[in-house]
Amino acid sequence: MQNRLLFIGIDGASWPVIEKLLQNNRLPNFKRLKALSAYSELETVFPPHTGPGWASMFTGAGPGQHGIYQFWATQSHEYNPALTTVEDYSCEPIWRTLERHGKSVGLVNIPMSHPPKPLKNGFMITWPLKQTIQYCEPKSLIKELAEQNLHYHSDLINMYRGQDDFYQSSLDIIDKRTATLKYLMSNYPVDAMFMVYTEIDRISHYFWGENDFPDELVCQAYQHMDTALGEILDFIPNDTMLVVGSDHGFGNCRYNLNIHNILEKYGLLQTKLIKNDDIILPPGSDGLPNDGASAWFQSMFNYKRVVDWPNTQVYMPTPGCFGLNINLKHRQKQGCVEEKNIDAISKNLKDIVANITDPDDGSQLFELQLSETVYSGDEVKLAPDYILMPKKWDIMPHPSLDTGIFVAPTQKAIHRMDGVYFFNARAVPSQKTKIKITDITPSILHCLELPIQDGLDGDSEVLGINIMNIIKEKKINYKKSGAMSAEEKQLIENQLVELGYL
Ligand SMILES: [Zn+2]
Repeated sequence: MQNRLLFIGIDGASWPVIEKLLQNNRLPNFKRLKALSAYSELETVFPPHTGPGWASMFTGAGPGQHGIYQFWATQSHEYNPALTTVEDYSCEPIWRTLERHGKSVGLVNIPMSHPPKPLKNGFMITWPLKQTIQYCEPKSLIKELAEQNLHYHSDLINMYRGQDDFYQSSLDIIDKRTATLKYLMSNYPVDAMFMVYTEIDRISHYFWGENDFPDELVCQAYQHMDTALGEILDFIPNDTMLVVGSDHGFGNCRYNLNIHNILEKYGLLQTKLIKNDDIILPPGSDGLPNDGASAWFQSMFNYKRVVDWPNTQVYMPTPGCFGLNINLKHRQKQGCVEEKNIDAISKNLKDIVANITDPDDGSQLFELQLSETVYSGDEVKLAPDYILMPKKWDIMPHPSLDTGIFVAPTQKAIHRMDGVYFFNARAVPSQKTKIKITDITPSILHCLELPIQDGLDGDSEVLGINIMNIIKEKKINYKKSGAMSAEEKQLIENQLVELGYL
């Protein structure tokens, strides 16, 4: 059984975009694949984000089960940016399941697969967030790809830094990834090959435009991806199980919402001014550093404005999480809220959030929900305490302390819940079927007639797979090894700035 499964990920590929371009006959190869596949919208997990999205795709579990809510932990004791990696998964990723059942596996550019660890039979090129040569197992493979003039550098090479040739170089990388895939499948055939293209996400963030539907340059990038898909379809044997999927969709962004300024206005958060070089401070400032807290908890102008933790009851723990935490005594390092006061704060917060209205039409933007109502599983304890559940998706709540409440967005487009999938396997009926991102891993395992772990959020039956026997096995207690050094985590933190998350 060689090259029996090929998974192609397209980070940020959006179902409404693909659907419309298909209708306009601009994606002939997606059309070819559609005729052979189950396909449609793939609903991602909340929040629609690369970290929890790919973790859910490849475990069949939601964040409440695998414990990944963002690139950082959302319940950091010290308010510092504690990175999450593949080592923090509480559920087994599919490549380890396949390995456990004796299958050979190849991984290329899978977000949240770093740091690399050897596979018993196969290879792994991970998705590091720092400049490193330590992202490949076996290590010699990178050198070999370089010698073949294939895509051998990490994804970081294509982060947007305002460069003029960003768009074209992203398209060139799509071509190089395809050539790399063909080389690896020819020279290192495996039972299951996984590769993610990350360029559609990058291009969408910066070239989307002002509307719900993207501008022409983004559409042309989808067409470039279509050509790559055509090359892959022509290359693989007809009986290969081909699964194409994305981790989230996309749409325009109207505003960033500086939620901390609202919390401060209602007395749930306080800030203080601290000394920055030789600037004379306004009265009331204490000149103390904001020890170790994340960069987003401070604002830099003439002086630094930082969160005053002992006087703060509620805060947003990280960008992109749509969450709020109670600054709880004995849980957070400088927590000040007594447990007996949580109910009163919660009620107050619910009213405050309900009254955050759209600056353009006055409608309500968010509903405050307890994370227990949004997520389920043993790892809900790692989620933020509350979720700002959006009623509209074009406003990004952010923990920034910069001036203003609704401000110009940092990115033209942000993620949405509606990703896309195509599932081409003999056992799967070809039809339009909307599924959840957690359904992919159990469906793949079911088609390969391998056991599916019991109790996962995902469901293999939703695709109507034509194999009667679903083998269930007890949920694996997936071990966390914690092998990444503090220095490496700091370097990754720096890289997230370039990705636009900070
Ligand atoms: Zn993105």
